[in-house]
Amino acid sequence: EAIRVSDLAKQMGIKAQDLIKTLLGLGIMATINQSIDLETASIVAAEHGYEVEKTGFSEDEFIIPREADKPEDLLPRPPVVTIMGHVDHGKTSLLDSIRKSKITSGEAGGITQHIGAYYVGSDRGDIVFLDTPGHEAFTAMRARGAQVTDIVILVVAADDGVMDQTREAVNHSKAAGVPIVVAVNKIDKEGADPDRVKRELSELGLVPEDWGGDTIYTHVSAKQGTGIDEILEMVLLQAEVLELHANPNKYAVGHIVEARLDKGRGAVGTVLVQGGTLKHGDAFVCGLYHGKVRAMFNDKGKKIDQAGPAVPVEIQGLEGVPEAGDEFVVVQDEKVARRIADARQTKQRDKDLAKESKITLESFLASKAEGETHQLNLVVKADVQGSLEAITEALNKQSTSVVKINIIHGGAGSISESDIMLASASSAIVIGFNVRPTPRVKEVAERESVEIRFYDIIYNLVNDIRDAMAGMLDPII
Ligand code: GDP
Repeated sequence: EAIRVSDLAKQMGIKAQDLIKTLLGLGIMATINQSIDLETASIVAAEHGYEVEKTGFSEDEFIIPREADKPEDLLPRPPVVTIMGHVDHGKTSLLDSIRKSKITSGEAGGITQHIGAYYVGSDRGDIVFLDTPGHEAFTAMRARGAQVTDIVILVVAADDGVMDQTREAVNHSKAAGVPIVVAVNKIDKEGADPDRVKRELSELGLVPEDWGGDTIYTHVSAKQGTGIDEILEMVLLQAEVLELHANPNKYAVGHIVEARLDKGRGAVGTVLVQGGTLKHGDAFVCGLYHGKVRAMFNDKGKKIDQAGPAVPVEIQGLEGVPEAGDEFVVVQDEKVARRIADARQTKQRDKDLAKESKITLESFLASKAEGETHQLNLVVKADVQGSLEAITEALNKQSTSVVKINIIHGGAGSISESDIMLASASSAIVIGFNVRPTPRVKEVAERESVEIRFYDIIYNLVNDIRDAMAGMLDPII
C-alpha cells in the first residue's frame, strides 16, 4: 500500500512542496512523484491535521513491478516507425510500396492483413511500421501516454515542398522528441525540386547532412517503387544511433495500436509488444478492460503462439474495446486482471465526475516545486500569419531564467483537433487569437482537459501570460 506524494498533498489540499518539507522534517527524502507507504502517509497527514484511511484497492500490489530491466537482460529490438507528411504527399503510397517490396519477397503466407502495424524483415534488419500515417494518430496515442514510435519518416512531395501539415508533423515529432528521417517523394515528377525541400526544411531545423546538419534525407518515388531500399537502410542507420533494446524474458508489456468490435470474433485489438513476450493464454489488462489471449495473429494473418518485443499482434479475448494508445500489461492470472480493470473503471468514473484540467494557466506555477525551472508549453493559433509572428515574438520575450515560454506549435488558422491532442500530450495550453474552435474541437478539449484561452488583443494575452508566470492570474470563470 502506497500513495504518491502529489496525490496525498492534493487530497489534503496543501502544496506538494509543503508535504515534502514535512517529510524532510521526519528525515524522509521524497520527490513529488514518489510514493510513500501507508504508515508514513499517516504520520505526515497527522502533522497536517488529517487522518489517513485505507479505503480500497491498489493495483500496485498486483501489477508486475515496473522496475528497469537489467542491462544483461536486454537484447536489440527493431525500430517502430510512423510515416507523416502533408495530405497527398504520398504517405499511404510509401507505406504500400514498402509493404509490397518486402513482404512479397521472402515471407510465406502471402496476404497482408491490416491490423494497424506491420513487420518488415530484411537481411540488414527488421522494421515495424505503424499503419495509420499522420501526426494526428501519433499524437492521439501520445496523449494517452503511449510512446510507441521511435523514428518518424517525414514525406515531402518534391513538386510541392513544405506545406502546413509538414510543419505540424515536424512540431509534433519534435514535441515527442522523436528523430525524423526525410523522404523526398515524387522525384519522378516533372517540376520535382528536392533542393527546395531541403531549403524549406532547413528553416525548420532539419538541416541535411551534406549541408552540415544531422538530418538524413533520401529521394524516393513511392509510385514507381524507387529508393525504397535506401529509405529502409536510412531508418536502420538512425535506429542504430538510438540503440533500441528490450528484455524479451518477462511478462509482456506494450500498447494498443488499434482495436475494434468484430461481428464474429468480439473485441479484437492489435498490441505492439514493447517488452517481454506475449503468449497464448496470458491474462492481461489494457486500459479499462481485462482479458485473456485466446488467439493471436500476426500481420500476415498467421496464427502464432507468442510475440516478442516490437512484434505487432492482433489478439482475441478482450472483455471490452480499448482505445489506441492504451497500455497493455500481462498479469499473473485472470482474477487479478479483472480486479485491476474493475478498480480502473471505478477510478475513471470518479475522474469523469471530477473533470479536472491537466494544466491551466492558473495552476501552472502552483503545480511546480519551488526553485525548479518551469517551462510553460503553448500551442498558439492565430487568424493570420502576421499576428502569429507578433505573438510569438512578444511571448518569447517574456521567457525568464525561471520560467521558459515554449511554443511547441504555432500556426495560422482555426484550432484543430490535432492542436488539442498535441497540447494534451505535452501538457500545453492552447491560445486562440481571433479564432474560435468548432463545437467538435471544444468537445475534444473538454474530454482531454485542455485549457483553451481566447484573445483578440495581444497586449491582454501577454499580460495574462506574465501574470501566470508571476503566479497571480485570476481564473477564467
Ligand atoms: P497521402 O495523402 O500522403 O497518403 O498521399 P497518397 O499516398 O494517397 O498519394 C497522393 C497521390 O500522390 C496519389 O494519387 C498517388 O498516386 C500520388 N503519388 C504518391 N507518390 C507518388 C510518387 O512518388 N510519384 C508520383 N508521380 N505520384 C505519387
